[in-house]
Amino acid sequence: MSPAHQTTLPCRPGKQPSKVNSHSVAVLLLYVPCKQKSKPIQYLCGPKIQDIFERDEKMQKIRMLTPLVEMDGDEMTRVLWQQIKDKLILPHVDLQTEYFDLGLKHRDETNDQVTVESALAAQRLGVAVKCATITPNAQRVQEYNLKQMWKSPNGTIRAILDGTVFRAPVLVKGISPCVPNWKKPIIIARHAYGDVYKNVEFRVPDAGLTELCYTDASGAETRLPIHQFKGAGIIQGLHNTDESITSFAHSCFQYALYAKQDLWFSTKDTISKVYDHHFKDVFEALYQQVYREDFQKAGITYFYTLIDDAVARVIRSEGGFIWALKNYDGDVMSDMIATAFGSLAMMTSVLVSPNGQYEFEAAHGTVTRHYYRYLEGGETSTNPVATIFAWTGALQKRGEMDGLSDLCAFAAKLEKATLQTIESGSMTKDLVPLFQGAAKALNTDAFLDAIAATLATLA
Ligand code: NAP
Ligand code: MG
Repeated sequence: MSPAHQTTLPCRPGKQPSKVNSHSVAVLLLYVPCKQKSKPIQYLCGPKIQDIFERDEKMQKIRMLTPLVEMDGDEMTRVLWQQIKDKLILPHVDLQTEYFDLGLKHRDETNDQVTVESALAAQRLGVAVKCATITPNAQRVQEYNLKQMWKSPNGTIRAILDGTVFRAPVLVKGISPCVPNWKKPIIIARHAYGDVYKNVEFRVPDAGLTELCYTDASGAETRLPIHQFKGAGIIQGLHNTDESITSFAHSCFQYALYAKQDLWFSTKDTISKVYDHHFKDVFEALYQQVYREDFQKAGITYFYTLIDDAVARVIRSEGGFIWALKNYDGDVMSDMIATAFGSLAMMTSVLVSPNGQYEFEAAHGTVTRHYYRYLEGGETSTNPVATIFAWTGALQKRGEMDGLSDLCAFAAKLEKATLQTIESGSMTKDLVPLFQGAAKALNTDAFLDAIAATLATLA
């Protein structure tokens, strides 16, 4: 009997509890009230009968050993988050999570400490699943009456975990990419640290000299003029570190070997002759010194090209490779690739740290327009697929790490149920115009119910 089907029998004080299956518990429940009518059940059995039912039901569910780090979020995706848990996961999995509320209100209340704590928990536990969150701008500061314009939570988490974001489209039969020659997924590897996401910038108020200044340990300064302003303007300082670029390169080469797919890398090295060129040099050195042989053995290639050339080649390609990009390029290109493959709502995302920690999420945002409609009581047809795949990715990884094959199998089954539901013609509104065949647009609730129904039919 598998442990998942065992339960612990309640017993009189002083007796050892015994393991039985759910069938034995049913016998006990019939027996106790008949034989000992006058005695309170609590005295005989310890817990109440209701507790036994609940415990039995819990023991039937798929067990977890280590909790996931659960990072809740904002707006429509926060609504989806709860529905996905209630309809698709909690009925099957005895879900264990360490919960962090990254909703904007709570981030503001905690001076954004909750974001830092959630990232530290991800470092400690190894697997996190994150809901989309608002990155506040001036309008959000007003809307939520914020203490300050907090930084992007994703930026904060990435800065703590380091590592690389891999974004891959979910391919469904019946939905062809906009680019007809794309036959296989294009996986975007986005560097997850620094550049514009860790920038320092300010409004230059009036005429004056701006400089870059580096002070070394002995106090010696190296200065470079940036611009002699003749009037007001703007200025920005960017940085990256050899450590982060190297771990980015390692993640990309390793992921390529794992996925057995070619790796492309592109930057604007012709214009940025030091900054971008350094990325190119780090990749090249690591490839030559560490990965060249393994790539040859695996029959895959590493290929560097200028980003302009890469964009043209990507469009002409048939897909089936990993495209590594700097932080900002990866952010923008992943939205383009996702949309061209079908929908932003069909793009999954995972941050892989060099220490083997994983954070899964959807690539899209909080779907604000749908949320305002939802608040007004209107019907919404928000696509939950990427958020479902964030959960399945995290459950699968947790299962792998803890050696829980039934948890891995459940994650695969939920993905299959989601794809089968769409392939059978039931989907959210955004997918209908893309689908070749008879398609029915469902609201979010009905679509999740349809997935739950498909899931119930899978062995
Ligand atoms: P968005 O939330 O991704 O939505 C942009 C539009 O794309 C939506 O209005 C909707 O189009 C469509 N869309 C996106 N996801 C969809 C889904 N699951 N189902 C159906 N349609 C979907 O981007 P945004 O409006 O630019 O940003 C909204 C908020 O999200 C911002 O506050 C931003 O800071 C945040 N954000 C967070 C993350 C993250 O946490 N990873 C990423 C990006 C943005 P229609 O309205 O035409 O239906
Ligand atoms: Mg983006």
